[in-house]
Amino acid sequence: MRTRAPDIYAAGDCTDQPQFVYVVAAAGTRAAINMTGGDAALDLTTLPRVIFTDPQVATVGYSEQEAHHEGIETESRLLSLDNVPRALVNFDTRGFIQMVAEAGTGRLLGVQAVAAVAGELIQAAALAIHHRMTVSDLSSQLFPYLTMVEGLKLAAQTFSKDVRRLSCCAG
Ligand SMILES: Cc1cc2nc3c(=O)[nH]c(=O)nc-3n(C[C@H](O)[C@H](O)[C@H](O)COP(=O)(O)OP(=O)(O)OC[C@H]3O[C@@H](n4cnc5c(N)ncnc54)[C@H](O)[C@@H]3O)c2cc1C
Repeated sequence: MRTRAPDIYAAGDCTDQPQFVYVVAAAGTRAAINMTGGDAALDLTTLPRVIFTDPQVATVGYSEQEAHHEGIETESRLLSLDNVPRALVNFDTRGFIQMVAEAGTGRLLGVQAVAAVAGELIQAAALAIHHRMTVSDLSSQLFPYLTMVEGLKLAAQTFSKDVRRLSCCAG
């Protein structure tokens, strides 16, 4: 957060950081630590982003294109929302959940979701990426049935099975 002028620190929309209020708050805290002699960095690698359209657009981590740009080989799956029970119950199956994983290891790299409440499920994906979970780890977690976030588990399961053939509850 230090600018080119050594005694001047900056946070927020006047910088080139992503313009989200939670980024601003985190950067401000770290700027205060650094200007009082500390050494705090702002890690934006698992920054969740939400666009409050209808349906919402929410992303975290790498898209396929971004991963390839970094030289990372990927495997990805796209789950349309007509495979997610909560979306069916809500009569709103507009959208999808796309999952990007590292080829070979299956480590989750990114999630892009378009859904009525995509903003509500993206933080679970951010935690999974932060804790270096694989799609296999994610698909063996317990997710509550009839929630939208269950779509993350179903999307993870598409790496190893055809979720349209599951009877119930993404088991
Ligand atoms: C319409 C809109 C919707 C948004 N929605 C979201 C959202 O849903 N989620 C999200 O995370 N982010 C959202 N953002 C972005 C978020 O609001 C900004 O990233 C954040 O407020 C930037 O904080 P800041 O402190 O850098 O600037 P600001 O919040 O703009 O604060 C700057 C302050 O400085 C004051 N000021 C300006 N000039 C002077 C001066 N000369 N002297 C004294 N004071 C001055 C201003 O009055 C203002 O109070 C939205 C932004 C907009 C515009």
